[in-house]
Amino acid sequence: MADESAAADRTITTDACVVGAGPVGLLAALALGRRGRQVTLLERRAEPATDGPPPAGPAVVNIVQPVTLHLLDQLGVLERLTEGAGVIPGAEIYFGGHLAARHRYDELDGCPVPHALSIRSFDLVRLLLAELAALPNVTVLWEAETHTLTAGQGGERSTLTVRTGDETVAVDARFVLAADGRSSTIRELAGIPAEVVPSTGSYLDVVVPSPPGWDGMARAYFGTHGYLLETRRAEEGLVLVWITDAATAARVTEGPVERLVETLSGVVPRLADWIAQHVTDWEQVRRVQHHFVRTKVWSQGNVVLVGDSAHGMHAFGGQGLNTSLQDAACLARLVDEALSGGSGAGIEKYESVRRPFIEAFQSLQVSNTQQPPPRAAAEEERAPEFEVLALGQPHIRSRISDAAAFLAAHDTPHGR
Ligand SMILES: Cc1cc2nc3c(=O)[nH]c(=O)nc-3n(C[C@H](O)[C@H](O)[C@H](O)COP(=O)(O)OP(=O)(O)OC[C@H]3O[C@@H](n4cnc5c(N)ncnc54)[C@H](O)[C@@H]3O)c2cc1C
Repeated sequence: MADESAAADRTITTDACVVGAGPVGLLAALALGRRGRQVTLLERRAEPATDGPPPAGPAVVNIVQPVTLHLLDQLGVLERLTEGAGVIPGAEIYFGGHLAARHRYDELDGCPVPHALSIRSFDLVRLLLAELAALPNVTVLWEAETHTLTAGQGGERSTLTVRTGDETVAVDARFVLAADGRSSTIRELAGIPAEVVPSTGSYLDVVVPSPPGWDGMARAYFGTHGYLLETRRAEEGLVLVWITDAATAARVTEGPVERLVETLSGVVPRLADWIAQHVTDWEQVRRVQHHFVRTKVWSQGNVVLVGDSAHGMHAFGGQGLNTSLQDAACLARLVDEALSGGSGAGIEKYESVRRPFIEAFQSLQVSNTQQPPPRAAAEEERAPEFEVLALGQPHIRSRISDAAAFLAAHDTPHGR
């Protein structure tokens, strides 16, 4: 630790160093910062504009479930987030063209918010950044690249050597939260083995305007075509997401776009004319390569992985951001407890309850996205349970509630 500090232009001593200013790192930094903790947030990218047009390129749009929205509500950003979002009142599940289940969030017992939201990721990032800007105890280093990570004696603290602009900064932290995404540098520097495996299935989506009178329900269609999701895309319209095995996708996508139109229309005949009218060019169709991240452990010493760095997943079921924000909130609370003199054992305990659930979800994603559709008898096993998506993993619901209370209690910082 002494060597890194000596080579640096300056040293920052901090309670928590959060690496990655994506939605997950920002939420963790904000939660800890509002408790009065000293937080240093490192982000590889340049500081984004806080207003004006969105960044170039296709926007990442996420469906955020009520349990996660409740956390954002406790942080005080939900109302503003809802302004640029699309409200999803519920979901219908179809197997082989037949309606198998219909759910509404406002009819679900214990549902903290009566709908899901389709949000643009950058809207959430901007809102969280604006909240962070009000905290003098949170330092953000932009265009920051971490070169070394050294555990101090007894593993009590770690020092990161960070290059930012023209200077080298040593960040000496009691905890390091690696929220630096699926290709996490911190995970590698900490020596945590990880598999980052590209999905061999195909994912494509296409946006069309909202059809007149559309009710905004999310509709999931399982069948021999694979899986098709009809849902809102933020406030912009309707997105059709088609997930299937590579061979089925190749048969359709190697031809003219009309073949795709035919395939989508065959699954959703109700929208056939609308799709034919609005999908006329392959340029409108986006393909995304998803990855699965599996690591042996989510924490080592005082380095904790959170978000995609711990368990990046496929978009099927829309749980990547949801589980990651839930983890960020729960782990921020546990880190805060440890900083108050607790042992940090809660962090490992959290992992022991959370990991099997996440791994089972990733397996469900693999079977839905990479393998040919199973026989009809197994159809109902293909859809994730609506209630679990809406309210979160049953075994950690009480922890998520505790985390929600923790996020809301920012007016009473520890006062260090
Ligand atoms: C097409 C698509 C659709 C999706 N749909 C959904 C959905 O409907 N619902 C859902 O819940 N999830 C969805 N997801 C998943 C969700 O977007 C991700 O799980 C989520 O964005 C992960 O957030 P994160 O903050 O962990 O990582 P990221 O968003 O990847 O953020 C990581 C941050 O760390 C920074 N960084 C990286 N390396 C370093 C470094 N060495 N030093 C400093 N900073 C670094 C990056 O610049 C970035 O800002 C979808 C994903 C995709 C691609």
